[in-house]
Amino acid sequence: MDITLYNTLTRSKEPFAPIAAGKVGLYTCGPTVYSDAHIGNFRTYVFEDILKRVLLWAGYDVRHVLNVTDVGHLTSDADEGEDKMIVGARREGKGVWELAQAHWDTFRNDMRRLNILEPTVWCRATDHIPEQIDLVRTLEEKGYTYEIAGNGIYFDTSKFPDYAKFARLDIAGLQAGARVKMAEGKRNPTDFALWKFSPADKQRQMEWPSPWGVGFPGWHVECSAMAVKHLGERLDIHCGGIDHVHVHHTNEVAQVECALGHKWVNVWLHGEFLTFAKADGQGDEKMAKSDEDFLTVDRLIERGYEPLAYRLLLLGAHYRQQLAFTWEAMDAAASALAKLTRAVIELKRQCDAPGEPIDACLGEFHAAMTDDLNMPRCLAAMWGLLKDTDHPKADVYATLLEMDKVLGLGIEAMEDAAAKLDADSIAEIEALIAERAAAKKDKNFARADEIRDSLAASGIVLEDSPAGTTWRKQ
Ligand code: AMP
Ligand code: ZN
Repeated sequence: MDITLYNTLTRSKEPFAPIAAGKVGLYTCGPTVYSDAHIGNFRTYVFEDILKRVLLWAGYDVRHVLNVTDVGHLTSDADEGEDKMIVGARREGKGVWELAQAHWDTFRNDMRRLNILEPTVWCRATDHIPEQIDLVRTLEEKGYTYEIAGNGIYFDTSKFPDYAKFARLDIAGLQAGARVKMAEGKRNPTDFALWKFSPADKQRQMEWPSPWGVGFPGWHVECSAMAVKHLGERLDIHCGGIDHVHVHHTNEVAQVECALGHKWVNVWLHGEFLTFAKADGQGDEKMAKSDEDFLTVDRLIERGYEPLAYRLLLLGAHYRQQLAFTWEAMDAAASALAKLTRAVIELKRQCDAPGEPIDACLGEFHAAMTDDLNMPRCLAAMWGLLKDTDHPKADVYATLLEMDKVLGLGIEAMEDAAAKLDADSIAEIEALIAERAAAKKDKNFARADEIRDSLAASGIVLEDSPAGTTWRKQ
């Protein structure tokens, strides 16, 4: 079955064809570890996980490289401002290395909680400084760079005639708009830093010698150098969030294609934003790390949600559509996951022997997932399967497991948590639920919330519906 993917390069859906038969090189832009990743970031990582799972399902040997940006991400896209790592270290009272390690650890833990598969290669920007210097040197030798004294080495975008092509940029418009605020010494508004010099008067915690002076790499050069090192000079698929199209990926295409002298990536995939209602009620905006109270996987857990309920919520929207996060949608996803868990437990109870996946029930699922990763249609096929009465239960369960190879909802691990609790614990939980209902009736919401939070802390999640409150173990 062909896998059709929407390629940003051509702005169209195309059947996927690997460069080398049976193999796929996949580079996904990873986290900047100056803070924890928010659930918006994880929307992109979940979409990339689905892509990878579909490729694995199709039998490809997928080499997936995921980077950790632990240096060089400045506070502005114009290559000005402080390094976000230094700002983060100051905020958290840590050293930059400690900061990077702490947020990387949290990131990996969150990935596990969301059932995102580990990459084949993890790569840290700070472990690849020589490769980045080599890339800049090649660009310099080919005449694509210039130096701004006291600032850094820049890529001259006017020397790459196709610069505007990838993101379909309006260069004339950008030039007109940027004339006033363009950094001193920059030849074109779209030029970007390949290497930044350390400030002459103070030592940075992260800086390296280079042929141009002590400093640190620009953000874009990191991903390119690591992708080429770990995946070679021709890459099957490169992904990221939609915000990367205009600057980060445009610059990556420019510098790598100029350095190599040929086309680099065959398919570019970009996931749309998770948005969040603005505090002032004036519509939705992109969830961003600059929001003080951005939501993390930990925050979802604190509020009593299972991380996989968030994964299920994400699967309900196509990756190329914006998705507005609301607590109502989160509640609906939690209820849907609880419903799925109950159905799976019931199904497992009725299986007396291992079954076989039912091909006829997988057809629509596979057609949907290979049609540009259409997860909402896949979920509809999964819910449809749960209503099946024509086949042996063991076969239905085997089919569900087959679907879960792509959905990643942890169906095999779903178990009857209640059966593992003793009768006293169950009685205690139910007494607390009754006390909470009474507190709510008396409008004592503080006590009601306290009960819900204390149960959540012991791994018991409450679900309210018009019919009353049910509970389940996380
Ligand atoms: P960052 O750590 O900010 O570089 O972002 C990591 C990934 O998350 C990148 O692929 C971004 O494009 C993506 N991303 C950032 N914000 C959002 C959002 N609100 N929704 C979806 N993806 C996002
Ligand atoms: Zn990147």
